[in-house]
Amino acid sequence: MGRITEQRSREELRELQSERLRTTVEHAYENVPFYRNRLDGAGVSPGDVGSIDDLEKLPFTTKEDFRAEYPDGLFAVDDDEILRIHASSGTTGTPKIVGYTEGDLGLWREVMARSMKAAGVGSNDTVQNAYGYGLFTGGLGFHGGAEALGATVIPTGSGNTQRQIKLARDLESDALCCTPSYALYFAETAEGMGIDPRDLPLSTVLYGAEPCTEPMREEIETRLGATGIENYGLSELIGPGVAVECREAQDGMHIWEDHFYPEIIDPRTGETLPEGEEGELVLTSLSKEAVPVLRYRTGDLTTLASEKCACGRTMVRMDSVTGRADDLLIVRGVNLYPSQIEAVVLEFEEVAPHYRIDLSREDELDRLELTLELTEAFDGDREQLCGEILERLQNVLSFRPDALELVEYGTIERTEVGKVKRVYDHR
Ligand SMILES: [Zn+2]
Repeated sequence: MGRITEQRSREELRELQSERLRTTVEHAYENVPFYRNRLDGAGVSPGDVGSIDDLEKLPFTTKEDFRAEYPDGLFAVDDDEILRIHASSGTTGTPKIVGYTEGDLGLWREVMARSMKAAGVGSNDTVQNAYGYGLFTGGLGFHGGAEALGATVIPTGSGNTQRQIKLARDLESDALCCTPSYALYFAETAEGMGIDPRDLPLSTVLYGAEPCTEPMREEIETRLGATGIENYGLSELIGPGVAVECREAQDGMHIWEDHFYPEIIDPRTGETLPEGEEGELVLTSLSKEAVPVLRYRTGDLTTLASEKCACGRTMVRMDSVTGRADDLLIVRGVNLYPSQIEAVVLEFEEVAPHYRIDLSREDELDRLELTLELTEAFDGDREQLCGEILERLQNVLSFRPDALELVEYGTIERTEVGKVKRVYDHR
C-alpha cells in the first residue's frame, strides 16, 4: 500500500491535495481565531479555496506568529483531544509549542515509517535512535516511526557515546538516527576506543536536523562504512517526517506531499517562484488536526524538482537546505552561509570535518575568523595549506576570511547532545 501511495500520478495527487486543502482551510478558519482574522483581513473565505491553485490567495504564517500565539493560540482542537505536546528548540526567546491529537500521532508514525522505509530500513532491522528524547521532536518522532515499521528500536537518545558504540556493536544496530555532527563524533569516539567504526554492523545513518553538505555526507559514509540518508522536518509542521531521500537515488528528499504541500517563494517579495529556482520553502499541512498550518514560511532555502525519480516515487524532491534564512551571515556586505564555507574547506583532505566561525567587529568593520582542524595524520606544511585554502575560498565564494587558524585534531569542541554550534557571532 505504502509504495502505491508514493507512486500516485501527479494528477491524482493534486486531486487529493486539493480535497485535503479545502478541509484544512475550513478547519483552521472555524477553530483558530488567528486564522479567521488573517483570512478575513486578506478578504478570503474558505469557500474561495477550491483547489491547490487557490493556495496563493492565503496569507503566510511565520515563526513570529507561532511566538505571538504562545502557547496554544494556534491550536484548533479542545485540550482533551491533545495527547502530546512538543516544542521547537528556539535558540532565542519564546519556544514554538505544538500539540498532537491521536490522529496526528498516527500520521506522524505513518510518515516516519515511510521515511525509514525509503531510507532502506526494514522490519527486521535494529534502529539505534540517538536523537534527543524530550520536547525536541527528533527522539520520539524516529522512535514512533521505527516501531510502526516493525523494527526494533534502541532508544539511546543523545550522549553517552561510548555506551552507544558498545550497544551498536553488541546489539548489532543496522541503522543510526542522529544529527550529521553526531554521526562524526560517534565515529571519532569509536576510533578512540580502538574500534574501527566501519566494522560496526551499521549500514544506514539517517541524519537530519542540521544542514549537511555533500562533502560532509561523504565523510560520514566513509568513516562509518554506511549509507548516509538525509531527512528533513520541523516541529511546526510535525517534526521529522516531512521529507527524506530514497536509498535508490540519494538525489534530493521526497516531500510527503500528500500531507505537506510545498511551495518555493522569493523570500524578499513573497512571490511564488517557478520550479527549479532556489527560494524559501513554504509548507502547508494537509491532514493535521491539532495545529493546522497554512503556508508556513520555514526560512529554509532550497529548490524543488518534480520529475519522476529513479526509485519510482512521484513525490517532489527538495534539495538539501543550503541555509536557513536565520543562518545567513552578512559579513562586510557579503552574504554567506556557513554551509558554503563547509563545502569548500571539506574539499581538502588534510582538514577534519570540524570547524568554527567567529565573527567580530573591529573599528566598525566586520571580521571573520575561521578555525579548522587538521586530520590526525597531517604532517605537511601548515602555511602552505593555509594559503591553498584561502585561495580556494576566494575563488569559489569571492570571500577571504580575515584569519585562518589550523589547529590540532580534537581541539574544536564536539557536540554530544543537541545541535552543533559552529558560528559564534560576537558583534
Ligand atoms: Zn527517489
